[in-house]
Order: sequence, then structure tokens, then C-alpha cells
Amino acid sequence: MLGITPYVVGDESGSFRELVGVRMASGACNCGAISFEVSGDITDVYVCHCSICRRLTGSNGIAVVVVSKERFRWTGGEEHIKSWKKPGHNWQTWFCGTCGSTLPGINDTSRIFIPAGLISEGDGQLRVAHHIWVNSRAPWDVIGDAGRQHSDAYTAD
Ligand SMILES: [Zn+2]
Ligand SMILES: [Zn+2]
Repeated sequence: MLGITPYVVGDESGSFRELVGVRMASGACNCGAISFEVSGDITDVYVCHCSICRRLTGSNGIAVVVVSKERFRWTGGEEHIKSWKKPGHNWQTWFCGTCGSTLPGINDTSRIFIPAGLISEGDGQLRVAHHIWVNSRAPWDVIGDAGRQHSDAYTAD
């Protein structure tokens, strides 16, 4: 990159690296076959509590970070990505064909969503900003953080 040797710096949590002034985050699936990188700051986590995301994870939903397409790139294993679209719904998931980890996918025409739990480097600034589909959450799902709660869908900007 511009002939400058990348260097690594840590913050208090030691969890992000700085690449010639641009913060980077990165992550991979459980088996390590598929990996990705995100440039710039990431701060806001969205948690979707809908029943489809609950079935996907077997938990109370899914936590994701949403970034513009330009800030995201695969760094390995793209050929192992599988996808499934739920018939009759505007809902699609991408996953590793080997280990089954849920992967980043298409959020809309200009943005990518990244499952927050995949991010292993650069996640030190993340906090839950929004909960969506709160009205359809599981009866045992108690929200205990300061994120704004939205009864159904919500999209910033
Ligand atoms: Zn995998
Ligand atoms: Zn959902």
C-alpha cells in the first residue's frame, strides 16, 4: 500500500491495528477457510431478534455490523461460501460450507452486514446501538443493554 510498511498499534484493549492511519477490523469463520477485512471505524452493532434469525443461530437472534460495500473485502476462501434464501421472505443467509459459521452478506444494494461475533480483531469499539424486531423476540429474551429498541425494522440513514 503506497510502499509504506504496515505497522501495528494497539488501543487500551489491544484489539485494533492501524494501517497507515486507517483502522482495520478482520475476522474469519470457525474453520478459518473464509476470512475478511473491513476498513475504517466500526462502532454500532444491530441485534435482530426476529424468529428467522433466531432459527439461524439457535439463540436470541443475530448481532451484526453494517458497512458500505467499499469498506469490505474477502481476504480468503470466498469460493467456500454457501447461501440460502428463505422462500417468500426478504431474508438470505451466507455461511461456510465446511464449518457452517454464519458469514457476512448483502444487507442492501450498497451495504454489507457482518455478524459481530466473527470479528476477532478491531472489535474493541463495538457496542450495541439498536435492537430490531423487538416485538417478536423470544419470551426468554431479556434485553439488558442501552441499545435503542425498535418494535420492527429500523435502518439508520
Ligand atoms: Zn469455515
Ligand atoms: Zn432477523
